[in-house]
Amino acid sequence: MISISKPYIGNEEVDAVVSVLRSGMLAQGPKTKEFEKMFAEYCGTKYAIAFNSGTAAIHAGLYGLGITAGDEVITTPFTFVATANPILMQRAHAVLCDIKEDDFCIDPERVQRCITKSTKAIIAVDLYGQIFRYDELRRIADHRHVRILEDACQSVGATYHGRNAGTCGDAAAFSLYATKNISSGEGGVLTTDDHEVAELARRFRHHGQSEHTRYEYWDLGYNYRMTDIAAAIALVQMSRLDRFSEQRIANAAVLSEGLKSVRGIVVPVPREGTKHVFHQYTIRVTEEYGHTRDELAAYLKEHMIGTGIYYPKPLHLHPHFARMGYKLGDFPVSEQMSREVLSLPVHPQITGQELQTIIAAITSYAR
Ligand SMILES: *Cc1c(COP(=O)(O)O)cnc(C)c1O
Repeated sequence: MISISKPYIGNEEVDAVVSVLRSGMLAQGPKTKEFEKMFAEYCGTKYAIAFNSGTAAIHAGLYGLGITAGDEVITTPFTFVATANPILMQRAHAVLCDIKEDDFCIDPERVQRCITKSTKAIIAVDLYGQIFRYDELRRIADHRHVRILEDACQSVGATYHGRNAGTCGDAAAFSLYATKNISSGEGGVLTTDDHEVAELARRFRHHGQSEHTRYEYWDLGYNYRMTDIAAAIALVQMSRLDRFSEQRIANAAVLSEGLKSVRGIVVPVPREGTKHVFHQYTIRVTEEYGHTRDELAAYLKEHMIGTGIYYPKPLHLHPHFARMGYKLGDFPVSEQMSREVLSLPVHPQITGQELQTIIAAITSYAR
């Protein structure tokens, strides 16, 4: 089976974990601090704060940006539910807004129409590993005094006109979940240049205690801390990140070259000026292909090729969000994309031969 994702763990990660276990310092400690320093340097931000998940980083980011009960936060329905749930955890309203079909990211023009007096922030997702239309969204957000939280959970290492993922917002959240481009099993990071956001996020991670005044509770907080065991893995993975990204980009180029002339298959074309790091390599299977997306996925599975559908149903069609009054037809681009998208294996451990097997299978099944 050619799997859709395969975390790479080498001897260095194993040794790093063993050495933390032997040190006796298992919870958040010096390794976490070292990881935060390295991550901030990599992104080029003043601060990086480590968490035990990407979801926790998004939640802390919203808290740090001052999002509270009754505020409106705009995001897209074409994302993982963890983008939107933290909005609800803050008792704010999740205002959904459709995407552009060329990059699957939030459509700045539509965002403009969603902004009201109550809008406090936009969570823009770098879906599949490509940064959203930052310049357009920033112009709109600044004009309306709305802040941006970048959901960079899929885009570590991506750039947009020389700007790194992690710097395309007032704060940005990353995930180190097992299948992400780099991983610590579970984990997350918030990056920001804003001193106040960083202080608040650190406090939020630690039951509302500031790091300077222990057992002094300033506000509601959580236990969102990263362990040094996870940080030790993440530190080693950071040293592999650029090579992983280059391999993903090279694999994507091979797939696109092989698939671009297959009728009915739309291959992903990065927008001008973006470095897309292909957390997912996602094609669209349109009517002209002659088989539906689900038929192609089943065919590939029979041929031992794993695929993924991210995401089979946009958020607004799930009971959890439909309850807020959303219904079929509200976000036609997201709805169409969830019928057409299919992600193919692109991770760094795929061989050239496996890429050719994938291309051959999709080509020969076309009608
Ligand atoms: C993975 C992911 C998250 C959440 O990260 P966890 O570490 O699993 O909590 C949030 N948003 C997007 C777009 C993701 O892909």
